[in-house]
Amino acid sequence: MDLWLKELQIENAAMTYKVKETLHTEKTAYQDLAIVDTYEFGRMLVLDGIVQTTIRDEFVYHEMITHIPLNTHKNPRKVLVVGGGDGGAIREILKHPSVEKAVLCEIDGRVVELCKQYMPEISCALSSPGAEVFIGDGIKYVMEHKNEFDVIIVDSTDPFGAAEGLFNINFYKSLYDCLTEDGIFVAQTETPFYLPQVVKKVYHDIKAAFPITRMFMAAIPTYPGSYWSFTMGSKVYDPTTVDTFTIPDMDTRYYHKDLHKACFVLPKYVKDLIEG
Ligand code: SAM
Repeated sequence: MDLWLKELQIENAAMTYKVKETLHTEKTAYQDLAIVDTYEFGRMLVLDGIVQTTIRDEFVYHEMITHIPLNTHKNPRKVLVVGGGDGGAIREILKHPSVEKAVLCEIDGRVVELCKQYMPEISCALSSPGAEVFIGDGIKYVMEHKNEFDVIIVDSTDPFGAAEGLFNINFYKSLYDCLTEDGIFVAQTETPFYLPQVVKKVYHDIKAAFPITRMFMAAIPTYPGSYWSFTMGSKVYDPTTVDTFTIPDMDTRYYHKDLHKACFVLPKYVKDLIEG
């Protein structure tokens, strides 16, 4: 008998993945956690029934959420990741020679431990000298650290449960205070196809907290709608005016210097949504 993982992407639409083996399941202090091995996407981290990251397509999300802000900032030295317990963002951040320290603030230590055990391709950099792992609530951490980080990446689950407080204007204002004077932050900001009102509200909340606000997109096969938004709040640097000739060739599979600006060219329905 075949075993299939069904992920409800929105109330009336789902994706299903044929499962080779269920590697681990548990209820942590924060969420239901599963790691399953699938025929099409390899090992997957699933939290509260939602696919977070997979061996086969994680490179898209982790490259775009990191290299866009890090190649926009003129000299990123200290970087914070809120969430991101799988370690993919940290792995990509440490490809930037200017980065002296990459701090991960993940609320659920079991995500870090199990991704180290079952998804080393993604979590491999968490034990690097330049990485520091802090287990705690990102909301509290950001409030307690002022004028400290050049780039902050909010690599969170969807806006419910522990992550709900990561999607509001008060958090964005505390991010502003946690950033240095020319700091940049980027958050994953959900699917404009299935959750337009969420995307619109988040964009305008970020716009209310930052002088420069830009949305960019990436095609992620396992994410709802397969077309995902990220929103940048920046104090000084505009990603769409970066001289892409200065961007070095990098060890990537999705991100490249021409895409650095092109990803900010939005489809009309998304442009109309956030500008409306
Ligand atoms: N990086 C993956 C991807 O490709 O989308 C998924 C994101 S990562 C697994 C999301 C993490 O955010 C989860 O491990 C979750 O525990 C964490 N998280 C949720 N709310 C948080 C909070 N308030 N502070 C810190 N981490 C939080």
